[in-house]
Amino acid sequence: MSKKEKDPAFVKFKGIVKRFGKVTAVQTMDLDIPEGSLVTLLGPSGCGKTTLLRMLAGLESPTEGDIIIKGKRVNDTPIHKRNLGMIFQNYALFPHKTIFDNVAFGLKYRGFPKDEMRTKVIKALEMVRLPGVENRMPSQLSGGQQQRIALARAIVIEPDVLLMDEPLSALDENLREEMRREIDNLQQVLGVTTLFVTHDQREALSMSDKIIVMKDGKKQQEGTPIEVYNNSVNHFVADFLGHSNFLSAVVESNEDEMVKVRLEDKTSFLARSSEPFLAGDKVDIVVRAQKFLLGHRSDYNGEENMNLLFGRISDRSYMGGEVSYYVELPNGQVIHVINLVKRNPFKQGDEVHISVNPENCRLLRARPKA
Ligand code: ATP
Repeated sequence: MSKKEKDPAFVKFKGIVKRFGKVTAVQTMDLDIPEGSLVTLLGPSGCGKTTLLRMLAGLESPTEGDIIIKGKRVNDTPIHKRNLGMIFQNYALFPHKTIFDNVAFGLKYRGFPKDEMRTKVIKALEMVRLPGVENRMPSQLSGGQQQRIALARAIVIEPDVLLMDEPLSALDENLREEMRREIDNLQQVLGVTTLFVTHDQREALSMSDKIIVMKDGKKQQEGTPIEVYNNSVNHFVADFLGHSNFLSAVVESNEDEMVKVRLEDKTSFLARSSEPFLAGDKVDIVVRAQKFLLGHRSDYNGEENMNLLFGRISDRSYMGGEVSYYVELPNGQVIHVINLVKRNPFKQGDEVHISVNPENCRLLRARPKA
């Protein structure tokens, strides 16, 4: 490989399985983390994200499979020989050491000369935009600042891989957004290969080069944020990546990737899909809450129209610039619609119609009945 070429499998999980007694935390995981990229493990609590990260860190051993960093199998390499930077939810700074000593910790361990150590620590503090705090104690810094120090401590050793396990979840909403941008920028500036763990889909979508969606220890989907969001491969991913509605339907026809389906109440929908659906196939139409358009029923001009449903607003809640509406259909199903706040928002009890462009409808094969 030439010097400039990036290694697409800088970190590699190969057939990784991890069992704790009878619990299988990770099931046959294959995963490549390209050099210089930020890859996120995303999934609900207990899906095995942390276990996977801890195996890369050397804090757990895989039951089966290999972990490879820069072409070398590291299963038996102890943690301190893996050259990793780590950041966790609780900043884990040493409370009785100064900021300088906290950041310098990994450098001291590696035996750097004093001058060089000082230069590196000062530079790392500048990179996390906290110059001049080296003589303070951790307790004299805010939570957000302490997390930046943790970041400085992780990057100062110029790690091969940066590991971050829910590093933002202890911060309040505004700080979280700020730190998210900070980590994103720093990761790009340094070009450090990063594995990031979160259960927060917004965090994953906004920062990642690649997202691995996990459930019950298994990879559900792997792709760029746009791929996993727009082309979710199953109900779980569609749901986990934000506010999807599912409408049961049966395929009527499929021509040139435009699939006509019919709902139980005989309403017709058109959806774009490249899957080879056949007439009679049972499907679910998947529509994101943001993609439905809402109108007053009285404004409906009576034209025959596809992709149109009627209902009544059963509930609503404001979310800053947007409103979440819950629209109850005649069959009792409640549809979630998120629209921008308008001057005359819809009220509870309003009769409405909702519509959606065929390009914004995805089709998934119906789930087998439990
Ligand atoms: P969270 O976001 O809650 O940390 P997670 O997705 O990171 O969840 P893990 O912490 O990796 O999930 O846990 C995966 C599964 O393995 C869970 O069922 C958990 O209870 C189990 N597990 C993790 N560590 C151990 C352990 N040391 N001993 C026994 N079971 C464990």
